[in-house]
Amino acid sequence: MRTTEIAIIGAGSAGLNAYRQARKYSDSVVLIDPGPLGTTCARVGCMPSKLLIAAADSAWHARQATAFGVTVSDIRIDGKAVLERVRQYRDRFVDNVLKGMEAIPNADQIHQRVRFVADHRLETESGEQIEAQRIVIATGSRPAIPGFLRAAEDRLLSNDDLFELDTLPESVVVFGPGVIGLELGQALHRLGVRIRMFGIGGALGPLQDSEVRASALKAFSSEYPLDADAQVDSVERTDSGVTVGFKDQSGTLQNETFEYLLAATGRRPNVDQLGLENTSLTLDDQGIPHFDSATLQCGDSAIFIAGDANNHLPLLHEASDEGRIAGNNAGRYPDLRTGHRTTPLAVVFSDPQIATLGISASKIRQYKPDQIACASFAFSDQARAKVLNRTEGMMKAWADKHSGKLLGAELVGPDVEHLAHLLAWAVEQKLTVERLLEMPYYHPVLEEGVRSLLRDLKHAMEH
Ligand SMILES: Cc1cc2nc3c(=O)[nH]c(=O)nc-3n(C[C@H](O)[C@H](O)[C@H](O)COP(=O)(O)OP(=O)(O)OC[C@H]3O[C@@H](n4cnc5c(N)ncnc54)[C@H](O)[C@@H]3O)c2cc1C
Repeated sequence: MRTTEIAIIGAGSAGLNAYRQARKYSDSVVLIDPGPLGTTCARVGCMPSKLLIAAADSAWHARQATAFGVTVSDIRIDGKAVLERVRQYRDRFVDNVLKGMEAIPNADQIHQRVRFVADHRLETESGEQIEAQRIVIATGSRPAIPGFLRAAEDRLLSNDDLFELDTLPESVVVFGPGVIGLELGQALHRLGVRIRMFGIGGALGPLQDSEVRASALKAFSSEYPLDADAQVDSVERTDSGVTVGFKDQSGTLQNETFEYLLAATGRRPNVDQLGLENTSLTLDDQGIPHFDSATLQCGDSAIFIAGDANNHLPLLHEASDEGRIAGNNAGRYPDLRTGHRTTPLAVVFSDPQIATLGISASKIRQYKPDQIACASFAFSDQARAKVLNRTEGMMKAWADKHSGKLLGAELVGPDVEHLAHLLAWAVEQKLTVERLLEMPYYHPVLEEGVRSLLRDLKHAMEH
């Protein structure tokens, strides 16, 4: 039996931050993870996906050059070279994480999977018992793959194995136009892979406003076959790959065969095999313990949950923040502190990009209409967007009519990651629309579109 003051389960982005914080309070902290180490973000998430998108963008820009009177001839994509670069840079990001872990004493690390056998007791795969006064759950998430997609057998891919392919496939059917599907599907398409994307119920990325969603859908479906509300009848592993039977837009049944099937159908928090049923924690219908998002404490226990494991805001910067808050509180327990939660901000690195920030469109719909002012702006009218030949998309923003403060926005358009940051910082600073209009705006920049949006928002507040 091993005893420790604090045990951190999971050495991902949340767990590593939790460990560093907890160590400020105690020398008796263990970090438990069976590996592979290096974090989901660096190994199979944020970083390799952005590397693939960077390759796709360069192919796309070369193809788009003709619109400017520039002809780039003989564009060839070397699939092997593309994936080799992805892995080469990915490995450097992973190495950086692993180097950072060298500062953690070996005695503090346990390279095994664990599960709870009681509130304060964990058991490793090899049967060792660990008694811990406080515990942080930071076990992350994994791809959630619906059963019918498993019919693709050895041709089924997720983000865990896509980047390991030797070369780019000839064709991929993508299930799930969420964040991961939109990013990877479009990148594959732009790298010359024949793709088709299927969704359910019309959902698209994180978008909740129907107009903004329609604008995004128009942009993506004009570039590659995308049915966000598809009727898929069958998925079958055939001699030539994976054959998908689906109804096309006219309702006619079609069969199309692809080399691979990419499941981008969401992620499942890693809490189901943690033995949480052996604790006194109250679990929700997904098996996630009830927790306080400000302290990350589960109920009134000495157990905390951070990162993708709690499914609250499954994003890298949130996992890092939550790890810090949970580790700090595990160190201080029972004298807990409320952690600072930043304004929600999410970006999809598609093209056009998608971003959401602040109070979501669906929450805004619950406010009384006389409380909220709303305005929208289409990039088709924007000077710099026209210069760049990137006029797809729109922005919608909402503000509090009484205080004049900006509350949130949804954006689809060229490089809106930057506009979204600007607006998220404004929401974080509790700035009013009027104050934002007093800021400098250079010319000609995409930010002038933000000024037009804010002017309309001010007008909507006044009338
Ligand atoms: C393809 C893809 C692209 C993404 N792109 C972005 C992006 O651009 N921007 C962004 O903000 N976010 C992005 N994300 C999300 C981001 O990667 C995650 O939110 C973040 O990595 C979660 O960190 P974490 O610490 O919660 O989990 P992880 O980093 O997954 O760490 C969890 C750790 O727990 C360990 N573990 C699990 N179970 C046990 C157990 N029983 N015992 C011991 N250890 C265990 C695992 O081995 C793992 O090391 C992306 C995700 C994916 C999949």
